[in-house]
Amino acid sequence: MRVSNAQFAEVAVPLHVFQTFTYRLTPEQSTNAGVGARLVVPLGRNLVTSYIVSLLDELPANLSDLDIKDAQDLVDSEPVCNPEILQLARWVADYYACPLGEVIKAALPPGMTPKSRSGSKFVKPKLRRFVRLLANTAEQKLTDTQRRVLSVLENGGPMSLQSLLNTADVSASTVTSLEKKALLEIYDDAIRRDPLAETLGVTDAEHTLTAAQSSVLTQIEEQMNGACYSAFLLHGVTGSGKTEIYMRAMNKALSLGQSAMMLVPEIALTPVFSRRLRARFGDQVAIFHSSLQKGERFDEWTRVRNGEARVVIGTRSAVFAPVKNLGLIVVDEEHESSYRQQESPYYNARDVAIVRAQKEAATVVLGSATPSLESFYNARKGKYHFVALPERIGARPMAEAKIVDMRNVFVRHGKPRVFSDELLEAIRETRERGEQSIILLNRRGYSSFILCRSCGETIQCPNCDVTLTYHRSERVIVCHYCNHREAVPSACPSCGKKYIYYVGEGTEQLEEMLRLLFPALRVARIDRDTTARRKVFEQSLADFSAGRIDTLVGTQMLAKGHDFPNVTLVGVVSVDAGLALPDFRSAERTFQLITQVAGRAGRGDRPGRVLIQTYHPYHYALRHACAQDYEGFYDEELRYRQNHSYPPFVALASLLVHGPDLGKVRNDSLELRKQLDLVNQERKCRVLGPAPAPLSRLKGEHRFQLLIKSRSRKDLRQMADAALRAVAESGVNLRSINLEIDPVSIM
Ligand code: ADP
Ligand code: ZN
Repeated sequence: MRVSNAQFAEVAVPLHVFQTFTYRLTPEQSTNAGVGARLVVPLGRNLVTSYIVSLLDELPANLSDLDIKDAQDLVDSEPVCNPEILQLARWVADYYACPLGEVIKAALPPGMTPKSRSGSKFVKPKLRRFVRLLANTAEQKLTDTQRRVLSVLENGGPMSLQSLLNTADVSASTVTSLEKKALLEIYDDAIRRDPLAETLGVTDAEHTLTAAQSSVLTQIEEQMNGACYSAFLLHGVTGSGKTEIYMRAMNKALSLGQSAMMLVPEIALTPVFSRRLRARFGDQVAIFHSSLQKGERFDEWTRVRNGEARVVIGTRSAVFAPVKNLGLIVVDEEHESSYRQQESPYYNARDVAIVRAQKEAATVVLGSATPSLESFYNARKGKYHFVALPERIGARPMAEAKIVDMRNVFVRHGKPRVFSDELLEAIRETRERGEQSIILLNRRGYSSFILCRSCGETIQCPNCDVTLTYHRSERVIVCHYCNHREAVPSACPSCGKKYIYYVGEGTEQLEEMLRLLFPALRVARIDRDTTARRKVFEQSLADFSAGRIDTLVGTQMLAKGHDFPNVTLVGVVSVDAGLALPDFRSAERTFQLITQVAGRAGRGDRPGRVLIQTYHPYHYALRHACAQDYEGFYDEELRYRQNHSYPPFVALASLLVHGPDLGKVRNDSLELRKQLDLVNQERKCRVLGPAPAPLSRLKGEHRFQLLIKSRSRKDLRQMADAALRAVAESGVNLRSINLEIDPVSIM
């Protein structure tokens, strides 16, 4: 029982406002209220669900009793946000300069902070009616059906009302009549919505570790025994058996009586992998994934909070899972940009994982075949223990990667080609050998669009500064940022001539071309359009895995995580658009993509090969990727970062000013620049911009961008904060400025 006499609660609201608010509690609320509980409060003309961040016995001097409103409902008698998570959320809010309420909201399962006016729509446990016997031995006259019910319960123990009715083959009235006689009890109990209930009978054999694996695991376990913070970077080529190490280390945490957590990028969380974890750890596993239903997420979270589940696997937000006695956090594919939340609160789950491990004296293992420059740099400087698995399991050779120079293809055919003869030939041969291939389109900033051959105009989104993408199956053109859709025009909207022409190729076109060229080839496609439907996605992967499909066409999401032993060819249709992106990480991303892709080929007994089509065959990212030379790439890229002052040599922040009125956006960003210069007279930071953002219009808003770089993170923050305060004082609405600390991309 919590006994508090606090009369006021200070709350954080899940909105983009930085201040906290104070409300008066009723005596009853005051006895039950705890820090971390949800409180519905009036704010402006609305009711909002807020989180109590402190309880006050009296009002702070700057507030007067008259200004204080009454809180509406106390939602929880047990806080939903425990002290450790609240502390972590405070760190995130502070480091990333975002509102605490937004962070707490992101830390909780979806559905716990509804916008509705009352608490009725909160996600809740799912209740079922259950029946159990009461120890009542008094002799009573019973009918046959009543006796049947009692005997089923005697043998089967407490059970759901429904299964009791089915088993005893009686009607509900028989059961209620027994309830009246006080022979049994009908009660409500929560039933678990289990996302892995439909298990596919996956078995999970524990391997005998290789010498390299054992050595890595031993080093990790030694630190885990020490029960203080330690961090590892595990650099293991694809197929080197990192996953087995993660699982052993998680097991170790359990055997120490601790909990373990594993973070995975959105896409690597394949259904197969979660089921493998279930096979190994049973009901101790809870899974946190954005495609689960709200009820499933809530139940998994509840099992973690109760201590029922001690192994958590999940994407980004799982880093906030309320596990008790945390021993280990694994961050798989630590370089992945999907660990970064792309909207406020901007946070990077990998970095939050490190801070959480520090705060809770846990071990953190960052794993990747292509570590981020930052992490590798940290390992070189000794901030992380460095462990490596340089070879594939069973000494399987790495796939051989080869560049196809598309300039030659162009010369040979006199016009651009989507598929080089080499790649087509390779697809054919692979199919003839009864093996499988993956064809990958690097679609970042690249897709099919419509061009007028007469005036050269492309069709742009009316709201965003991007070309509309053509979707053949629906005969529409779509904006991939704001989802604006229109029918394909029959004539050019710009010059009126009927020379509409489709350029570039989306995955749909690739699929169709392959069907035309190879009628017997069984082709399927996976991309953003099909993943919207989880079942279709899982089915395609299952079909591919079972060999019912020869060739899988898709976007970069196919590059990661999946393990298809029969794939011996991966073709990358074009990497050039990715290389050309105006982002300091574009070379790193391309290198990672190619390396990951190469890891998909030849995971079974047969060697694999990779063909990369490009118009830039000498680019250093491609050269090193083909040579499987991470360190070579790392050294070259690091020089580039140093010469141009990019992370990890400087701290970086971006400020994006956005709004519907171009003039205002431009003026506000100039004002921001002026204020930044005023607070930067000692030149501790370097300010760039304002310039139109690479996406200069998005969802009907104009966007200008400024970048701040500094060798001192502290100076950078102080300066950004001071400048933002100053522009706010001069009347600029801070909601029109996004401050991003450590942006992963500056697009
Ligand atoms: P990574 O995560 O490094 O890409 P995986 O953990 O997926 O690699 O391992 C690659 C393959 O090798 C998997 O099929 C896995 O089951 C298998 N494997 C892992 N460790 C061993 C081992 N010690 N002995 C035999 N096979 C293993
Ligand atoms: Zn748009």
